[in-house]
Amino acid sequence: MDEVKFKDWGLPLERIFLVAGPCSAESEAQVLETARALVGHGLSFMRAGIWKPRTRPGSFEGVGLKGLAWMDRARTETGLKIGTEVAEPSHVEACLEFGLDILWIGARTSTNPFSVQAIADVLKGTDVPVLVKNPMTADIGLWIGAIERLANAGLTKIGAIHRGFGSTLEMRYRNAPNWKMPIELKRRLPDIPIICDPSHICGKAELIHTIAQEAMDLLFDGLMVEVHPDPPSALSDAAQQLTPGQFLSMVESLELSREKSGSPAFLDRLSGFRESVDELDGRLLELLGQRMDIVQEMGRLKAEQGVSTLQPHRWQEIVDDRVRKGVGFELSEGFVLQLMQSIHEEAIRRQEADRVEGVE
Ligand code: PEP
Ligand code: MN
Repeated sequence: MDEVKFKDWGLPLERIFLVAGPCSAESEAQVLETARALVGHGLSFMRAGIWKPRTRPGSFEGVGLKGLAWMDRARTETGLKIGTEVAEPSHVEACLEFGLDILWIGARTSTNPFSVQAIADVLKGTDVPVLVKNPMTADIGLWIGAIERLANAGLTKIGAIHRGFGSTLEMRYRNAPNWKMPIELKRRLPDIPIICDPSHICGKAELIHTIAQEAMDLLFDGLMVEVHPDPPSALSDAAQQLTPGQFLSMVESLELSREKSGSPAFLDRLSGFRESVDELDGRLLELLGQRMDIVQEMGRLKAEQGVSTLQPHRWQEIVDDRVRKGVGFELSEGFVLQLMQSIHEEAIRRQEADRVEGVE
């Protein structure tokens, strides 16, 4: 974790940027009980949802304004900093009135540039820290765009939260982790701290530890975890909330990876492996280049003969064959399929570019 990224946020920072608290504030007693159980354990702030943007109407939609007063009371009593999700300007105004220590924009809101802009407009002139959850769909442009809108409003304390992405394919998790997205965000915006929300990725309490550890191994700056004094009775996201005890023992058992650590012998071996990987990547790219050249020739031939670019039977044969072969090399079916789809897409792009060029 890079402390510089959280400089001047006015929030405590111990081993990692640690956030915990219920999915939703449900009653004053529940908020206070959670705060009492969590204080003294290195939290950067306590979370609780006040306005809940549920996917379907009819679910619990949050207690609204009175919840802010409960959180404020928990802060006064325990000294914990407090933060909540905002989805529209009136939420931001209420939070500013209560002097919340930090805000975040949820996954359904970061999907909508109008909403993010409206929030950014109200925040103009303040310097409240704001975290931006990834949008529901795996669109890095929307995620970065939301961060840029806040930065353009003059905010300087901006972070990101990876909470996974809606997927119809993912069976194990509620939201697919799709780690390449937060890794790409880190590459594109290296100064923006990024924390992981394993609760919304997992959807089930028992999976949270694994994803939290994976986030640490991928050098995330922190975690936001849903914690409820009595998860089965929770009014939202009951299956994924941990008890304070479960949360604290999970955090204690996390191993924190560090960039650039290791003995000279380890680094030596690592660089040996890296050389092999670099070499293999070079060969893969050379082979892909050769494959595309052939595909382009084929495209010209198809065009001359008036044959369509897409040949569904041939494509089906390729998929079946490559998946089978890939599995033989211990590659997962999903990976081979995705790889072949990318290659095929590029091949079609090349063939079509030629055809369109030929049309005068
Ligand atoms: C939440 O944090 O409780 C929440 C609604 O999360 P998300 O925006 O990630 O769905
Ligand atoms: Mn939740």
